[in-house]
Amino acid sequence: MRETIQAVRGMNDLLPADSAAWQALERAARETFAEYGYREIRVPVLERTELFKRSIGEFTDIVEKEMYTFLDRGGDSVTLRPEATAGIVRACLSNGLLHNQRQKLWCMGPMFRYERPQKGRYRQFHQIDVEALGFEGPDVDAELILMSARLWRRLGIGGVSLQLNSLGTPESRTTYRGKLVEYFRRHETSLDEDSRRRLEGNPMRILDSKNPAMREVVAGAPLITDHLDPASAAHFDRLRSHLDDAGLAFTVNPRLVRGLDYYSRTVFEWITSDLGSQDAVCSGGRYDGLVAQLGGEPVPAIGWALGEERAVELMRRLQGRADSEATVDVYLALAGAAAERAGLQLAERLRDALPGLRIETNCGGGSFKSQLKRADRSGARLAVIMGDDELARGVATLKPLRETTEQRPVPLDELPGALAAAGVTAGRGPH
Ligand code: ATP
Ligand code: MG
Repeated sequence: MRETIQAVRGMNDLLPADSAAWQALERAARETFAEYGYREIRVPVLERTELFKRSIGEFTDIVEKEMYTFLDRGGDSVTLRPEATAGIVRACLSNGLLHNQRQKLWCMGPMFRYERPQKGRYRQFHQIDVEALGFEGPDVDAELILMSARLWRRLGIGGVSLQLNSLGTPESRTTYRGKLVEYFRRHETSLDEDSRRRLEGNPMRILDSKNPAMREVVAGAPLITDHLDPASAAHFDRLRSHLDDAGLAFTVNPRLVRGLDYYSRTVFEWITSDLGSQDAVCSGGRYDGLVAQLGGEPVPAIGWALGEERAVELMRRLQGRADSEATVDVYLALAGAAAERAGLQLAERLRDALPGLRIETNCGGGSFKSQLKRADRSGARLAVIMGDDELARGVATLKPLRETTEQRPVPLDELPGALAAAGVTAGRGPH
């Protein structure tokens, strides 16, 4: 026997038992986005490395140590996307989508980061992503946040809380950064190694430190909310009023900085206490400078990304969602050469007559007894049983699998009506 091949570390298979929850999440997201007028965009998972360096920033964790970067056969440096925004902005520029136009877009799919795999943190993970390009806000900032709140409600996810901050403009941030560096230099002995390194490249990331030993020194640091330029402060005030008007609770967290360089003004994060240290389920912010940074005319924009693995885990915990939802309504058991041959056609006719009907045909033979065991395991409510002698008489046996009602013979041409009367396709119409 040959050795089996293992999956790449940190990259998961999504197994059929879990796919219903993922589909429910993605369906709810699609419906919600449509209700707000957002349209889907799909972009490649592979982009030129330069795109992410220039957008996410050289001194971020992602670019410094998390990217899957390699040379392709032509010798070009390419990178598996670690996030979606940079690729979406690139696609908008490549296709002229921002010429006298604004865009409200969504995207979903796999992202790749070379992190230490643990619960809720993987090397291939999935994000649902929305972007509004060409909008100054703060009305659109509020709308985007309300859209995420609606998605939680739709999914039955409670216990998530919204944290909000403003990072100001790049100019006001430079002034603040100076103050921050000055403060941390005065307390350099209390900084851990990571933070000392960040002091040079990205001092604001120190505020985001997860090291408990750093808590005190971080708590005493100057706050960005005290150093906003007047226009950013007004923008932030108006955003908070919009959210207040909508009755959406939030906490201002002046230490929320986010891990990507391109953010300006509004940043936010939905966090939960139900997932241990991987507590962020959805995060986003405004990136007014990014489009110009990537070579376009300046266009203000904002977006967020939701981690699907973490959202699915929350759905599972909070709702005890049944993973093993029945996948078929009717199981067709067939015995005898003639019945087996006629069975496939019978199933096709039933699907024609009853759009939405989920019917599994027994494939590969077997005794009626073993076929009925399979029928039971499939979760089907009804079995349709047909042997050669029944086929000869033009009937099949309809056998309820979940109720005590007796089985009964039904003429083949009356089967669709009998199945419909039994309500097997209830709630599922034609597609
Ligand atoms: P974290 O603080 O957990 O590292 P992040 O700030 O790096 O998150 P973003 O880049 O904002 O995350 O990505 C948006 C969302 O994607 C996060 O809120 C999280 O739910 C999810 N996410 C990020 N990295 C991973 C990962 N490696 N595995 C699974 N989900 C992830
Ligand atoms: Mg991260």
